[in-house]
Amino acid sequence: MPKQARRSHFDHLEINDLAPTDLTKRQASTTSPGTGTPYPPAGSDSPAASTLPKSWVDKYNAVKAAGLIPDIPVSKENAQGTVDYPQGTDMSKVCSWTDQKCFNGDIYQAPDNAVAFGIDDGPTPNGTSHYIDVFKTQNITATHFLIGSAIVWNQAQLKLIANATPKQNLAIHTWSHTLQTTKTDLEIVGELGWTAQIIYDITGYIPNQARMPEGDVDNRVRAIAKYVFGMQSVMWTHDADDWCLRQGNGTATEVQSCVQSAPNLKTVTANEVAWATPKTNNTGWITLNHETTDQAAKAFDSMVQATHQAGWNIEGAVPNLQGLPWYNNAYGPNDPPTKQDNILPTKDFINVTDPTAPKGSANAPKLGNWAKVAATQNPSVGSQASGGSSGSSSSKTSGAMEVTVNTAFVSMAVLSIAIALSA
Ligand SMILES: [Zn+2]
Repeated sequence: MPKQARRSHFDHLEINDLAPTDLTKRQASTTSPGTGTPYPPAGSDSPAASTLPKSWVDKYNAVKAAGLIPDIPVSKENAQGTVDYPQGTDMSKVCSWTDQKCFNGDIYQAPDNAVAFGIDDGPTPNGTSHYIDVFKTQNITATHFLIGSAIVWNQAQLKLIANATPKQNLAIHTWSHTLQTTKTDLEIVGELGWTAQIIYDITGYIPNQARMPEGDVDNRVRAIAKYVFGMQSVMWTHDADDWCLRQGNGTATEVQSCVQSAPNLKTVTANEVAWATPKTNNTGWITLNHETTDQAAKAFDSMVQATHQAGWNIEGAVPNLQGLPWYNNAYGPNDPPTKQDNILPTKDFINVTDPTAPKGSANAPKLGNWAKVAATQNPSVGSQASGGSSGSSSSKTSGAMEVTVNTAFVSMAVLSIAIALSA
């Protein structure tokens, strides 16, 4: 079972340290090529309602009117760093992970023998490039749960992830890295929407998975992610203390909030390696690692090596576990992303009722109108080979097309940012 959230949400991120103050002012004028409007300010605030494109608000209003977003009150963060709901709240309808350790349609475990890697809090100047080296030498994909504000500050590192070999899977970790059940509906719309928008603007892909900071999710947050943006809630099985590690030889300064007492590279590595060895049972698992420092990347590397050696089936990116689409506008890692007027989903949401059901089994997720795309576009998705260069000839063709599309997106985004910064 995942551990209790026990840290405050900024102490491991040092989000303010990542924001050069001279950039903070200028980034406000940076325009999203996809919406034609400025990105919200990067930082610890949720995007203001005034920044939301009309299409997102219209969609939210429609699904709310249809009764799809439950009337669960906003929670309040307490002194322990967890959350409280107002007195009298019918908790049987809330399904809070923070408060009740409740799951509802979340992906938090893997099919037997299978392993996926979830890496949070990127992109960062300290950690990202070190992880990229590990992906290459270990030949693995992973799902990156990215922070919108961190993308504003570290666009070069996002491009490193997007252009890595093998292909990496891009997903959402909110705009401000704050507890989402404490937010209003429209604040959550902004947190998820703007993070997806900036990823779309820069890479061409529209993410379809979200991992909420500290795992703070309830049925209201899940419903907004699902019905407004077609995003699947992803949790984890194993939580690394790697966010307590520092860069180089630095030691943790905030040990009081780390899960272990006084964690260091040796203890964090031993803890992660223990997920894989000894292989005493077949229960599959999903990791929570952090893309924050070179030491965290080292511990991750040791864990992946141990996982290989112990004979686990490394699926890598989370969607590979059950043959799910990588994005809302592309099925597999080598498929060209569809260009859209906005980031709202155009295909069926795929419900996951049993995250441990293997691909093709009776309980495996039903692909809906993705099934046809799955059969024609990328028959190899879901196997580790699809993340590398050994795809079929048809996926090689689509891979070549994708490069063209992505280059156009990247150029457009770079141009727009260059114009904004020079203004
Ligand atoms: Zn995080």
